[in-house]
Amino acid sequence: MKIICIGKNYLKHIQELDRKRPTEPVFFLKPDSAIIQRNRPFFLPDFSEEIHHEVELIYRICKVGKCIQPKFAHHYYDAIGLGIDFTARDLQRKCVSEGNPWEIAKAFDGSAVISKFVPKEQLGDLNNLDFRLLLNDQCVQHGNNKDMIFRIDEIISYVSQFITLKIGDIIFTGTPEGVGKVAIEDHLQGFIGEEKFLDFKIK
Ligand code: MG
Repeated sequence: MKIICIGKNYLKHIQELDRKRPTEPVFFLKPDSAIIQRNRPFFLPDFSEEIHHEVELIYRICKVGKCIQPKFAHHYYDAIGLGIDFTARDLQRKCVSEGNPWEIAKAFDGSAVISKFVPKEQLGDLNNLDFRLLLNDQCVQHGNNKDMIFRIDEIISYVSQFITLKIGDIIFTGTPEGVGKVAIEDHLQGFIGEEKFLDFKIK
């Protein structure tokens, strides 16, 4: 399986990082070795001084597809959850400024925290999903997928032009504003609506 992550998909987050609004979806991959599940702790790596949390809605692919049209894209995902796209912001800045790929900043072990998945039929209006991240009981990020620049159907269509989607692949759909640094002993809790999806610690 693979993890496909969309960058720069919420305007206020683009502004906080001082980047440009994309005209097409921007994506990158994480390997399966990046996954943390079942609320296991995230261990801060030695190679970065600035690991940022990015809370994101995540979608699970349920059907193999290539060159999927947007109008059929909803057949290709069956469940939604919450993830953290942990980012070594200091390394990312260095990669970007040198024009290099940014895997060392985005694809390292533990950089893809994944919650349980809930069947999409159980989540109500799929174009109005409210989600938030609490850091030590304070809300630090709050988003709604109605504010995404590129909706999931457009993302699936765009990505599948280049890369075949397979059953079990996961798409991270971008983070809203409020990203910030995590430290040892921090407690992170993530919600979609009022339902808790993530609850883990930084070690
Ligand atoms: Mg992200």
